[in-house]
Amino acid sequence: MNGVARAASGLERDGTMEKIRMLTPLVEMDGDEMTRVLWQKIKEKLLLPYVDLQTEYYDLGLKHRDETGDQVTVDSAEATLRLGVAVKCATITPNAQRVEEYGLRQMWKSPNGTIRAILDGTVFREPVLVRGVSPCVCNWKKPITIARHAYGDVYKNVEFRVPGPGEATLCFTDDQGRETRLPILRFKGPGILQGLHNTDQSILSFAHSCFQYALYAKQDLWFSTKDTISKTYDHHFKDIFQELYDSTYRADFEKAGISYFYTLIDDAVARVIRSEGGFIWALKNYDGDVMSDMIATAFGSLAMMTSVLVSPNGQFEYEAAHGTVTRHYYRYLRGEETSTNPVATIFAWTGALNKRGELDHLPALCAFAKKLETATLTTIENGRMTKDLVALYEGEAQALNSEAFLDAIAETFNGMRS
Ligand code: NAP
Ligand code: MG
Repeated sequence: MNGVARAASGLERDGTMEKIRMLTPLVEMDGDEMTRVLWQKIKEKLLLPYVDLQTEYYDLGLKHRDETGDQVTVDSAEATLRLGVAVKCATITPNAQRVEEYGLRQMWKSPNGTIRAILDGTVFREPVLVRGVSPCVCNWKKPITIARHAYGDVYKNVEFRVPGPGEATLCFTDDQGRETRLPILRFKGPGILQGLHNTDQSILSFAHSCFQYALYAKQDLWFSTKDTISKTYDHHFKDIFQELYDSTYRADFEKAGISYFYTLIDDAVARVIRSEGGFIWALKNYDGDVMSDMIATAFGSLAMMTSVLVSPNGQFEYEAAHGTVTRHYYRYLRGEETSTNPVATIFAWTGALNKRGELDHLPALCAFAKKLETATLTTIENGRMTKDLVALYEGEAQALNSEAFLDAIAETFNGMRS
């Protein structure tokens, strides 16, 4: 094969081993603590032996974020705008204790928040299902993906502790200086007040991402808010989704044989529990935050939840939904063995490699990603897994440390026919 033919077939000869070629690099965002340790091991044991891995590397480890004044986080997000696909390791969001622990110059903002603000995306969280670990809800057969609006509402609120009796008014002044005033409450004594907002632009981006992701995943899209009580605020979300669906997506949905379904959030929670899964559930920021933790726990474990940020312009950033697993890291630093579950981080890599393969028309890269996912699940289904899963597994199971589990996956992978 000449070089061009080799690139086209996605294969490259490296000694005795055919390595899978990539055309465009992934944006690689390294992170912190236990997940940073796993990150290297996953690359070393499961990716580099098989793929001629091309990445543009950004070190989002807290120390390097501090050294660069957090510029590295901004650079990595901008690289994602340019290259289209990123894979991110979990990172520390500093609090006062971290500022002291790492001697930080500043309490840097959440990297995920910074990246989301630049990509303007929606976060989709999907559980990884494996035979032998049953969801708490026995009729759930397929994953339920949560699409969480990642801007505004209570996360960008203005709060006020009302000290005593007085008048509260909602006031908006337009650019011509005209005021609109709405009475909130005549306080008879102390209380609390909160101002929330969202923007049409952000809600519209959210809606576009949800409709596009549903078409990509070929799954029904559900959306729910509390529009019966919040007749202007929540109702506006409902209207924007409906108008966009009717004007832009209805025909494509019908062609794909999927549907868009709006219902009140109270009704949605009841239907979700009674469903067999296999759909995308779009939610406002707070609802999505809470419901994704509920769904992850009910499906088994946070360590089995993947997350992808999809921008309205079609950029993708894949990561695990869990954090840096600090408690395990401190044990690791003391030289103790840890059994940290790498599945969600492996699936972040396979999600990103598969997407890169799709965009660059490299079927071999997509096939590799799918094969590695199958090898990971098969290893667990054969009774070899990390400690957290042993507790949930229905059957004979052997608890392995993280490294032995990765070796077991590699063994399964090497034993599979391609
Ligand atoms: P966490 O890292 O998700 O861990 C919480 C607990 O969940 C762990 O102590 C562990 O329980 C269990 N767990 C989570 N992932 C696991 C895995 N892969 N394998 C086995 N067990 C797992 O959350 P956290 O302790 O609240 O946060 C730690 C740091 O992560 C914080 O600095 C936070 O800022 C950061 N964080 C980052 C992200 C992100 O980058 N996306 C998200 C959340 C949190 P046991 O100890 O009982 O085994
Ligand atoms: Mg949460």
